[in-house]
Amino acid sequence: MGLEQYIRDIQDYPKPGIVFKDITPLLANPQAMQDCLKLLLNSLKDKNIDVVVGAESRGFFFATLLAYELKAGFVPVRKPNKLPFTTFSAEYELEYGTDTLEIHTDAITPGDRVVVHDDVLATGGTAAAVCKLVEKLGGEIVQCNFLMELSFLNGRKKLSKYDVFAPLIY
Ligand code: 5GP
Repeated sequence: MGLEQYIRDIQDYPKPGIVFKDITPLLANPQAMQDCLKLLLNSLKDKNIDVVVGAESRGFFFATLLAYELKAGFVPVRKPNKLPFTTFSAEYELEYGTDTLEIHTDAITPGDRVVVHDDVLATGGTAAAVCKLVEKLGGEIVQCNFLMELSFLNGRKKLSKYDVFAPLIY
């Protein structure tokens, strides 16, 4: 299907030495969006998903589309102080320092079957933090999915407890 052609490499972004995978050409192309969404949905057939959790901010695009198609709810996981109600936080390691993500304390009902979505799986720190928040609220993680996996960064290792799916693997 050639979705790769809609991913643009940006050299030295956001820092020198990093090649950033830019998904905006894929988002801008209606056919590529539909194809990508279909691949993600196929991997979730008959899985009875209650909630799709999206990670700020590029995870929101497809997480809401998935939720709509699956007739599931959408829950945002956001950077600190963005969510208005009471929150739980999870801290995770970055290359230098740490970062924090938050979820509303009532976002998930214990026993909910949850898909965690983000645009890119790199080291896996972000997705692992999102999973921790979902499990703190009693959600059952059925799958972690991404548009793209940067497999050379071994993100799957941090998510070894979970089913991981990405239509594009680099
Ligand atoms: P991780 O926590 O797995 O190391 O990094 C994944 C997070 O960083 C995701 O939220 C993703 O949006 C962002 N990210 C890391 N590298 C890239 C990249 O090359 N392209 C895009 N679009 N996002 C990236």
